[in-house]
Amino acid sequence: MSRVLVIGCGGVASVAISKCCQVSEVFTELCIASRTKEKCDALAEKLREKTSTKITTAQVDADQVQQVIDLINDYKPDLVMNIALPYQDLTIMDACLACGVNYMDTANYEPEDTDDPEWRAIYEKRCEEKGFSAYFDYSWQWAYREKFEKAGLTALLGCGFDPGVTQAYCAYAAKHEFDEIKTIDILDCNGGDHGYPFATNFNPEVNLREVSAPGSYWEDGHWVEIPAMSIKREYDFDQVGEKDMYLLHHEEIESLAENIPGVKRIRFFMTFGQSYLTHMKCLENVGMLSTTPVLFEGHEIVPIKFLKALLPDPASLGPRTKGKTNIGCIFTGKKDGKDKTWYIYNVCDHEECFREVGSQAISYTTGVPAMCGALMLLTGKWDKKGVHTVEEFDPDPFLDALDRYGLPRSICETPALVE
Ligand code: NDP
Repeated sequence: MSRVLVIGCGGVASVAISKCCQVSEVFTELCIASRTKEKCDALAEKLREKTSTKITTAQVDADQVQQVIDLINDYKPDLVMNIALPYQDLTIMDACLACGVNYMDTANYEPEDTDDPEWRAIYEKRCEEKGFSAYFDYSWQWAYREKFEKAGLTALLGCGFDPGVTQAYCAYAAKHEFDEIKTIDILDCNGGDHGYPFATNFNPEVNLREVSAPGSYWEDGHWVEIPAMSIKREYDFDQVGEKDMYLLHHEEIESLAENIPGVKRIRFFMTFGQSYLTHMKCLENVGMLSTTPVLFEGHEIVPIKFLKALLPDPASLGPRTKGKTNIGCIFTGKKDGKDKTWYIYNVCDHEECFREVGSQAISYTTGVPAMCGALMLLTGKWDKKGVHTVEEFDPDPFLDALDRYGLPRSICETPALVE
């Protein structure tokens, strides 16, 4: 029996909300609030006939702390699920603290305006101190640890698939499979085809920023940064086949390096097709990925926002996408004094996702873990005050919930290792 406020009503939120509505005994009441209320109304309308969850909708600009506070005070939720954009993480966390409500999200904070001099000064200091230059990192949200702890509240960060499930896989490996984990390779493969020459599977702005950033990995206690897309490997993915994958910086490496004791190396690889990479390089070279406004015929235009307006809406890819995703973690280490390798992953079919909730698998593989994370908090299975990432909680009930609600795990005891 709980009331949940979901902020955002895009690709990922739509899946999370649809899945919450399949578990009405826990998600008894749900308010969908976003910048564009019409989208919330349309989704609520679609779901009402299929669920006993009581759904209401609201308009909110989550960049404005006071608007979120007013909405929370009005609705009085037990939990706020932030499935808007990483830009809103801090304002929504501030509002949750002001109102005494638990918080969760699916991606760590990054600013919308990376030219903001105040943010830039802190960012440049962090790049020097930590040794990686991605725009996003955990420091902004980890700074809220004491505040949440003192308020007796929980903030669950990054509860999608990666970040999210990948960290639960690591916690599971540490709990059940290894005495000592030496290396972790996170492999994210999208074998889906939407038929467009170029489109992104989730928010284009966030996606292109992530992919065009320099890559980095954790080794022997420090970061190693490399030029974007400069480390390429091939891997033969179960149910997908052979794909090229590239080493990227990814946020969960940062928290795993803190939370998996003794780990020597953590890397993250994502598959990309040649057409995607050629388009991205070209767009980058002509300045279309820039977040700095340019003056065009008397109007200020942010190139990457204009590009977003031209690209297909990720939510519209659902009916066109065929194929499967395969995301998981390969571990090496020791168990009972012997060397061991172990691979845990999930395979998800784009067309099956579309049949079930009307979305492609990227939104599905993020939205289902968001629902399962909320389920853990609302049922008290995860109850740790402060600001925490997924690997800090018991992985068992979470992985059981994922098995049950659409993202079952597969295990391979003898995986091919990534060179
Ligand atoms: P979309 O762009 O599809 O949806 C974003 C939603 O947030 C839209 O409904 C948008 O409203 C709303 N929104 C944006 N700004 C505001 C604001 N100021 N106030 C209120 N609502 C706002 O994004 P996705 O669904 O693709 O992604 C959602 C989140 O999931 C992102 O943070 C993304 O980084 C994360 N993600 C995480 C993954 C993981 O595995 N952990 C994988 C993929 C995504 P409007 O309709 O008006 O634009």
